[in-house]
This record gives sequence, C-alpha cells and structure tokens, in this order.
Amino acid sequence: MVDTADHVAFRDHLVESGWLRRTSVDGVVGRTAPFVAVERGIDAVVTRAGADQDATVLRFPPLFPRESYLRTDYLASFPNLSGSIHTFEGTDRDAVALLAQQAAGEDWGLSLVTTDLMLVSASCHPSYELFAGQLESDAVRLDIEGWCFRREPSPDPARAQAFRQREFVFIGTPDGAQAHRDEWVTRGLAVMAELGLPAVSDVANDPFFGRAGRMLAANQIEEVLKIELLVPLYGADSPGTALVSSNCHRDHFGVNFGITTPDGEIAHTACVGFGIERIVVGLVRHHGPRIEDWPMPVREALGL
Ligand code: ZN
Repeated sequence: MVDTADHVAFRDHLVESGWLRRTSVDGVVGRTAPFVAVERGIDAVVTRAGADQDATVLRFPPLFPRESYLRTDYLASFPNLSGSIHTFEGTDRDAVALLAQQAAGEDWGLSLVTTDLMLVSASCHPSYELFAGQLESDAVRLDIEGWCFRREPSPDPARAQAFRQREFVFIGTPDGAQAHRDEWVTRGLAVMAELGLPAVSDVANDPFFGRAGRMLAANQIEEVLKIELLVPLYGADSPGTALVSSNCHRDHFGVNFGITTPDGEIAHTACVGFGIERIVVGLVRHHGPRIEDWPMPVREALGL
C-alpha cells in the first residue's frame, strides 16, 4: 500500500525540480517547460505507434453534451468521479441574492442551474454520437486526444483531476474490436519499452460505484474487458500505476448510441488510452529530474 506521504514526497520533488507548479487544489497543477517538452515527445511517439491506423483525427473541447454523457452510462458506473457544468440564468435580483450568498459563505452553487454540458469523462466519449446510424465501413478508426475530468483529488501527481488521454478508437465488427484491443496491448508495451519504462500488463479492476458497480467490476474482470499497462511509481513492491489501458466495450456504445455496421449488426467498439501526464511523471520517476541524464535512446524517441 502506498502511503500518502510517498505521493506528497513525489509531488514536492516534481515541484522542486521544476516540472510542476501547485495550485491551491490537489490534482490541479501547472505544467512547466520540461513537462510540456516531454508531453510533446510522447505525443510524437504515440503518433508513430499508430501511424499505420489511417485513423481520423478528432479533437474535442473538455466539455461534451450531457445527452452523450448519459448514453455512456458513466453516471451509473462513476457518479462520484463525474463533473457537471452549471451556470447562472437568473434575473438581476437573483444575481444580487447570489452574491449575498457567496459573501455570507453559503453554498451559492445551489443557485446555479444545470446546463446541457458535462466535463469529458473519457476522451473517446464525445466521439460516439458522431457515428450514430449505419457505418460506411466495418472498421472506423479514430485518433483522439482531449482533457478528461475525474473528481478524485489526491496529492499523487499521477492522479490528477484533469488530465489528457491520447486514444486510438475502433468502431466496427466484434472481431475487429477485439483485435484492436489486443493489438494495442502489444503496441502499448512497445511504446513503454521505447520510453524505458518497465510496464507489465494486467486485467483492470475499476472502482465502479456502489452495489450495482460490484457486478460491473466482476463482469469486467471475468470478461477481461480492460487491460492496463502498469508501471511502478512508488517502489517495486507497490501496485503499479496504469499509464496505458486498452479496452473492449463489446456492443455497449453500439447499443447506447445506435451504431450499426454496414451489415446492419450492432457495432462493437474498443479503445486504447495513453495517459499523457502519467507517462511524463513515470519518465521522471524512472529516469530522474534532469532530461540531460535520461538514456539517449529515450531522449531520441522523444526528440529531446
Ligand atoms: Zn476510450
């Protein structure tokens, strides 16, 4: 079990060695020049790993339609991690009351109204609504990168509340989705090796919420739906941190978003996600705080 003290020590090390700036909230940080340089390098490494995919590039803002969010079923699985956008739509008089609430230290959030927007829960989630209906091909591939939000404040620099996932997504036949998931476990391990990170693959065990969530978790393990590439960040004995995960969603999004293959079957989907910030902190953990000291093949791979 990793002690919070280990998380604080690693975060402080990243701050003191010039990789991060802290804000007043755990899990929300400012990234500095070396961090940005390395994340650009990682982007290039992952782009090369997927160069043969002929994937359609899609970039979304950190917000997406509430209707899409609800179709992902994320609310049922992870209500505790979700982020919802609310705003003020009252009158002048309501605004005076709002400011009075705020001045009195009351919860002025209760005076806001729910919008049609949610913070992005996984970077592939905004894409599925674009493919509702019948696909023109039985193998659609997407290259997505975007900001994700998870409400899990922690001093662990590998567990941010806002972070980026670079994903390659497959939408099409069941066999194609399974192959995509498996193929990207192999490719993800190759990317980790290129970066000098000691990764092992393991079946994921997500912390689904509540009683219904325990069944989802059991199903996830039993059906081997998600495989994570784990890299130790807190000693060889600690559980590794997932820097990459490769998922097969079966027909979940196909059913919920009404996506069918050219033959009229329900489409299956799969995605691999590379956690950009996690890979950066993994590199610092394993190669040290000075990029000049990193192994030359790793620097070359990152173009640094
Ligand atoms: Zn995804």
